[in-house]
Amino acid sequence: MAANKSKLPKLLYILIALLLCGLAIPVVWVILTKFEGGLPTFQLKTPVHTIGKSFTLKGQASDQENGLRRVWIAISQHGKERTLFDKTFPSKSFWEGGAVQKELILLEIDSDALGLSDGQALLRTAVWDYSWRDWLAGNRAYEEHEVLIDTQSPTVDVLTRTHNLNQGGAGLAIYRISETGTVNGVQVADSFFPGYAGFFSDPNVYIAFFAIPYDKGPGTELYATASDPAGNTCLAGFAYHINPKRFKHDTMMISDAFLRRKIPEFEDALNTVNPSASLIDKFLVVNRELRQTSQTTLKDACKQSDAKLYWEGPFLRLPHSARRAGFADHRKYQYNGKSVDEQVHLGIDLASTAQSPVPAANNGRVVFAEYLSIYGKTVIIDHGFGLFSLYGHLSRIDVERDKLVSKGDTIGFTGTTGLAGGDHLHYGMMVNHTCVNPIEWWDPAWIRHNVTDKLGRAKKTLECSKKSP
Ligand SMILES: [Zn+2]
Repeated sequence: MAANKSKLPKLLYILIALLLCGLAIPVVWVILTKFEGGLPTFQLKTPVHTIGKSFTLKGQASDQENGLRRVWIAISQHGKERTLFDKTFPSKSFWEGGAVQKELILLEIDSDALGLSDGQALLRTAVWDYSWRDWLAGNRAYEEHEVLIDTQSPTVDVLTRTHNLNQGGAGLAIYRISETGTVNGVQVADSFFPGYAGFFSDPNVYIAFFAIPYDKGPGTELYATASDPAGNTCLAGFAYHINPKRFKHDTMMISDAFLRRKIPEFEDALNTVNPSASLIDKFLVVNRELRQTSQTTLKDACKQSDAKLYWEGPFLRLPHSARRAGFADHRKYQYNGKSVDEQVHLGIDLASTAQSPVPAANNGRVVFAEYLSIYGKTVIIDHGFGLFSLYGHLSRIDVERDKLVSKGDTIGFTGTTGLAGGDHLHYGMMVNHTCVNPIEWWDPAWIRHNVTDKLGRAKKTLECSKKSP
């Protein structure tokens, strides 16, 4: 009996302890989760140093624990504050916290409308979460960023007076920009050609080679443009004339013998195509899709160019060669008497004796020296300031990437690699991402009128303006 008596209160203690434990778990859970002290964040997508006339501020507010309660953004200058953004986010329930954990905020800032003047200002951001801390007000993260209000657009003064251009050809503009640190260049319809400093001693004078794509005629819009870090942009028109060009139309006969000889070279690249597909169907994939991916690889190789004019004088044409196809020839492909495809040829085909040595057309740095799909074994040379030359269908490559080459150096030998019917060199020239007609660069008179004379005149003008008070 005595033993039973002492057991009863023990059991009671255990029950009370268990009950307390049961209560303690939710209490600990509430303390840990609802009273968490992790700060919400507001991160600017790109750092903001300067704000121009109109500026898009991009930021992301987030709180992974109890969710976002409120985001507030303001800008203050000379003691006056302007609220740019103030939003309270909904909560799912008292216990569950905020319904939104992440919010991308895009704010259009109009400096004039806000009455901001040029000079220093303070960008202030605050973000709260649904934590129960601070008497249910939540955790608050507050930040200040010193910014510069700059509503002055840069000015672009185009120094080159005449721009006599050919459809499918190249051009050169030289201009001075009133401030440093701009993104500048020449806009040709929807293509942008960057300007480069470094040719003239004045760091604000830029040269930009640009291209008139083969499919852009005399009505194409052209202008020089510069945008400063604050987002202020200036456009400057200049006088130009685009001579229209008619390009040749050609028919390529595709024979079974050609397909049997060529398609095996592309079998690896055709791994997504049904292996039992017909040779002509495989050819169409090569001619359309692989042509497209080759063009993308080519553009990627020409993305970066050295700010140095490596080249001098006219470009070399493959010696003792005959032209087999021209720039921007519009080709129709016929198979068994039926038209099966159409493409545009973006270089010049030159044929000499088989496996002829191929000279570098001018001084430059090799930026590509490997197999490039329809172009076969290919070399691309950067001649500086956005100008490149391309050598395709080589049987052998004799240079390595990054090697500096001089005009006339043998870089490889002609061949039939890629989509070539017979031994020839596919010679291409590009201004940044756009293929241009190589004929201009083989012509000493064109180079003199359109490049060297312009550079010389600009140099003289700049020296004169330096001397004059
Ligand atoms: Zn070609």
